[in-house]
Amino acid sequence: MIRTFVCEKEGCSGNSFYIESKDDKLLLTCKECKSIYDIDVSYYDYTILSQCSHCNNDTFKVFRDTEKEGVYLKCIECGNPPEIVYLDEEGTQINYESRVLNNIKDRIVSLDQKIFSLEKKIDEVENGQELIEESLAYVSKFLTEIS
Ligand SMILES: [Zn+2]
Ligand SMILES: [Zn+2]
Repeated sequence: MIRTFVCEKEGCSGNSFYIESKDDKLLLTCKECKSIYDIDVSYYDYTILSQCSHCNNDTFKVFRDTEKEGVYLKCIECGNPPEIVYLDEEGTQINYESRVLNNIKDRIVSLDQKIFSLEKKIDEVENGQELIEESLAYVSKFLTEIS
């Protein structure tokens, strides 16, 4: 079940938080009383930035899944998730679009390799067939010679 995360400090029921990624944790700071909570986000392969991906607002509503790991963040102004960045193989921060592009590039490269090895196999099959035809020709020549 997904629950809205509300500030747990007595007398505060703030439900807007500033967010900040630190190491494998996501720090949530209550906008009302400044209490800080941290959520383990080490299972994400990206880093959550402090601003909305759409409007640059920096306060979010936080939703948590009570059954499995997961945190959902929604900008209180426009409802969009915060900006996220991925680390590429060299450890450089890249945004989602670049990551998608990189993935596509990787796929094209591996498709190329597959096509190349398929072509090689087709060549081998064709060569194999030639060999069979040659042998058959040889056998039938031999048969005609002895008959
Ligand atoms: Zn609070
Ligand atoms: Zn927003």
